[in-house]
Amino acid sequence: MNPASLPPIPFSRPDIGDEEIAEVVATLRSGWLTSGPRVKEFEARFAAMLGEGVTALAVNSATAGLHLALEALGLGPGDEVITSTLTFTATAEVVRYLGAEPVFVDVDPVTLNLAPAAVEAAITPRTRMIMPVHYAGLPCDMDALAAIAARHGLRIVEDAAHALPARHRGRLVGTLDSDATVFSFYANKTMTTGEGGMLVTRDPAIARRAAVMRLHGIDRDAYDRFRTPGAAWYYEVVAPGFKYNLTDLAASVGLHQLAKVEAFRAGRERLARRYAELLAGLPLTLPADADPSAGGLHSWHLYPVRLHAGARLTRDALFAALAERGIGCSVHYVPLHRQPYWRDRYGLRAEDFPVAEAAYQGLLSLPLYHLMRDDEQDRVAAALRTLLG
Ligand SMILES: *Cc1c(COP(=O)(O)O)cnc(C)c1O
Repeated sequence: MNPASLPPIPFSRPDIGDEEIAEVVATLRSGWLTSGPRVKEFEARFAAMLGEGVTALAVNSATAGLHLALEALGLGPGDEVITSTLTFTATAEVVRYLGAEPVFVDVDPVTLNLAPAAVEAAITPRTRMIMPVHYAGLPCDMDALAAIAARHGLRIVEDAAHALPARHRGRLVGTLDSDATVFSFYANKTMTTGEGGMLVTRDPAIARRAAVMRLHGIDRDAYDRFRTPGAAWYYEVVAPGFKYNLTDLAASVGLHQLAKVEAFRAGRERLARRYAELLAGLPLTLPADADPSAGGLHSWHLYPVRLHAGARLTRDALFAALAERGIGCSVHYVPLHRQPYWRDRYGLRAEDFPVAEAAYQGLLSLPLYHLMRDDEQDRVAAALRTLLG
């Protein structure tokens, strides 16, 4: 068969089971649609899965969760936050929401995670915080980052949008040495609620402030008031908060996705190992794995390969040729130092980010999700072999 006539292989494919659908229908019939019993249950199960005494606060996106965490830590104008240039713009935009300034640094050539030495070199008297991003689901060197934070009195908020579930030295991301961690349930993440996120913290002050700011700065939510006999109508506004709560409809999906999140990960891990075999010998740098002997665990949210400079095709030509064959890929990410807003605001120059620049020229994320069949993966590998071999 002509490869063009084969069914397309999408970049991402969410796995929504009958349980999710039945729960959404039950929620619709229950009469309680916004944040209520299912959000409470979702938060309780999420916190129980992580353990270590974390509090989990469901929000309507990871972007919202990051904003709440930074707000709760008192970030404000004049403050600087060090983060990776190789991330989604949401990581940095929340810093600007609060009038503070992100400071972008280069990544490690092996992991593509925030390079600790680059973090330390970027510290100024205005630095308040480090925001590590666990790129593709491979945990950052959190020991090194925590040591830097301790030495300089900095806070850490982890952008863990890719990292559920992932482990660093045997501990789950979400329970590491940071002030708060935020996960994403966007449609293509490791589990989904359509849109959604979870802020987790062990700091009761952060949890209290974020819970209030999540819902208009009101001291108790509608469901609490609904369950309280007596003056159910009374509430107090203590701050100009935001509208960041998750709906019970979304939590209905999340409850069942959460129960499957490790099975999804195991499926992706099997496929990632298979990619490594199928793509051996091609002019591609394959993504680094976590070191299991050191207690590392990769979530395998993404499978970003790096095309070598001397290959027969450029990354853009390879992307187009794969698209012609019905294979959906993506690029994570155009580094933020190249994005007009960030580049122009801070006068950023490509030569100051040599590792991210070199990576970006060849970066290509291949499709990876546990519903991907082996014959689909074989087609991706065969196409790469034909195009690059
Ligand atoms: C997806 C993503 C976000 C934002 O998540 P939302 O839930 O869509 O707000 C933030 N950071 C990174 C690295 C992401 O991949």
